[in-house]
Amino acid sequence: MSIIDVNGITKVYRQYKRFPGLVGSLRSLVTRQYTEEVAVRDITFSIKEGEAVGYLGPNGAGKSTMIKMMTGILVPTSGQLRVLGSIPHEARQSNSQFIGVVFGQRSQLWWDLPVRDSFDLHKYIYKLSDLTYQKNLNYYSNLLALSSFIEKPVRQLSLGQRMRVEIAMALLHDPKILFLDEPTIGLDVIAKEQIREFLRMINREKKVSIVLTTHDMKDIEEICHRMIVVNKGNMVYDGSVEQLRTTLGDQRQVIIYFREEPKVIEIPGIKLIKDEGLRKTYLFEKSDRTVFDCVNQIASENLIEDVSIESADIDTVIRKLYRKLDEENRTNEL
Ligand code: ADP
Ligand code: MG
Repeated sequence: MSIIDVNGITKVYRQYKRFPGLVGSLRSLVTRQYTEEVAVRDITFSIKEGEAVGYLGPNGAGKSTMIKMMTGILVPTSGQLRVLGSIPHEARQSNSQFIGVVFGQRSQLWWDLPVRDSFDLHKYIYKLSDLTYQKNLNYYSNLLALSSFIEKPVRQLSLGQRMRVEIAMALLHDPKILFLDEPTIGLDVIAKEQIREFLRMINREKKVSIVLTTHDMKDIEEICHRMIVVNKGNMVYDGSVEQLRTTLGDQRQVIIYFREEPKVIEIPGIKLIKDEGLRKTYLFEKSDRTVFDCVNQIASENLIEDVSIESADIDTVIRKLYRKLDEENRTNEL
């Protein structure tokens, strides 16, 4: 069952031109000249219950705009959008009971108040029962190790601690979907890792569906099975990391440790790129045969000690995707 349906969604920002000075501001009112910017262009996808989806793209790709539309903060310019059956901006109040939202760059906490007060306020706003509130606060406080700073004012927290609090808050009312906009931005490696591990856990154990934006590929690799890649407002990919590797003709490297100097290997699509005596590295370009098949042939003709097959990391895959898009753009412009 799908819980999010995005159908041909477009968002155009209109920015009215301002003229300086008093006369200028009057002129701004009268002329109402504006420029338009298409932040999200004709995007379609749907998300099923229980999924964890990474929304990936460079700065300005339209990620935050999409999250804001899905959470009802912004109204789409055109297209249809449904989250848990409702139109987000029309059902903000009722939808907020079922969704949790975390913005990495904008805090929802009360800066000068102790962390606990922000939680209390959340209890009040969401009309949580004492029982649910205590149970969830204990649960998340344990998992995210909040107890040592829960009585401290938010402003004294490190960024990593604050982000853990933000996430716990967003989950306090047991939402079905958790939206996170760049939840790991600015965090150090260990803090990032804690958050990834936690998100992976609540997706698996608590079945909370997750939609998160990021430009850190590791977020996707560790949390999400599926990724949607956007670029300049357009959706350029929707699928798994593995699928993308295949589509782009992933070049895999195979390191073979021979027992003795092998015969010259002549298999089309295979290239020796590093020769370190008995340890040789081959590049497998796109070929009709599988890597496994080729390694088998080599093994049948030579004495092999060990084999290791290495796939390009996701960073490389995405860079390749962007390069391909750039090339396509240039071809289109010619
Ligand atoms: P991302 O989150 O992927 O970095 P955004 O959704 O924030 O991208 O922005 C997409 C595009 O829309 C950018 O070019 C940005 O400058 C523009 N944009 C974002 N918010 C506004 C706004 N409130 N008014 C005008 N343009 C905006
Ligand atoms: Mg953003």
